[in-house]
Amino acid sequence: MTSLADLPIRDDLRGKSPYGAPQKPVRIALNVNENTHEVPAEVIAHVAAAVERELHGVNRYPDREFTLLREHLAGYLTAATQSRGSTAPDISPDQIWAANGSNEVIQHILQAFGGPGRRVLGFPPTYSMHSIIAAGTGTEWVSAERDADFLLSPETAVAAVRRVDPDVVFLCAPNNPTGTPLGLDTIAAVYEASRGIVMVDEAYAEFMPVGQPDALSLLPGRERLVVSRTMSKAFAFAGARLGYLAADPAVIDALRLVRLPYHLSALTQAAAVAALEHAPTMLRTVGAIRDQRDRLLIELARLGYAPHDSWANFVLFGNVSDPQRTFEQLLEHDILIRDVGLANHLRVTAGTPAETTEFLDVLARLSR
Ligand SMILES: *Cc1c(COP(=O)(O)O)cnc(C)c1O
Repeated sequence: MTSLADLPIRDDLRGKSPYGAPQKPVRIALNVNENTHEVPAEVIAHVAAAVERELHGVNRYPDREFTLLREHLAGYLTAATQSRGSTAPDISPDQIWAANGSNEVIQHILQAFGGPGRRVLGFPPTYSMHSIIAAGTGTEWVSAERDADFLLSPETAVAAVRRVDPDVVFLCAPNNPTGTPLGLDTIAAVYEASRGIVMVDEAYAEFMPVGQPDALSLLPGRERLVVSRTMSKAFAFAGARLGYLAADPAVIDALRLVRLPYHLSALTQAAAVAALEHAPTMLRTVGAIRDQRDRLLIELARLGYAPHDSWANFVLFGNVSDPQRTFEQLLEHDILIRDVGLANHLRVTAGTPAETTEFLDVLARLSR
């Protein structure tokens, strides 16, 4: 049997592990922060019709510039950031980039602005794909400490930027896997202190408190700032694979240098455009999911666990004496949550009311 070690693989990839959140066929999957509500039936019909129309031209390559999709994403982001009080000018389609999930968007960032001989600074515990994409693109991953309760103050973040002098900084707002918020003051201070690209991963932005400003509102005048988003979480579209970012048009030009031609299939583009045409319908479960998250915060504390404040659709909770045992006991009840490798912690996604109830009921019967 040939093993990986026998192959002439890059030295810097030897001994590395792939991304590996367990994919198990369970009844209640609360492990990867998807929206657990199905796409509304009227949107499914609209998406299906749009994809079918597109199939008539699928003998041809798709629009390499995904023009219509960029227009829809720009419109969606402009409305979203203005609803949070931003008075910045509208986000224009030439500020938008998209790819097959925000993971690919982030990969494009590091292909263009990272790479061999360059470093990216991150603040663990944070999204595991950030360091994995760094490894894949040959970018050195340098990590720095957070403050207490996984927060990140401007002072702490700026001190790390001064020490590391990174080519790229990854921030995550709210942060995964902790759920904790990140202040715009920290983002602005990191930008001022750095010479490189500052990327804010806002995968969970739609779950932030109503009226809370987002990082998009910081874009004007900051040509090295990048804000990434995804349709995988609030938008209930994880299986379609569509992530995107907003930045200065010059950043978008840089990403054109590294993308593969026609990287977004005609079917993906059509499906995403159709879904964005129904944005309010696609997002109508967000309030209910926030309610379940807040319920988790209260009930987990009542059970003696130590949940961390969350602005996302999941909760990280401490005081778990044996995370692996609790994880497996829940799995015996067909409930899958996430062991993110933090001592005495587990993470659970806020699901439907019924899913949340069942998770809490089973958990209450287990020993902490
Ligand atoms: C889930 C998640 C993503 C989403 O990745 P996609 O490739 O768009 O599905 C990105 N960033 C963070 C922090 C996430 O938690």
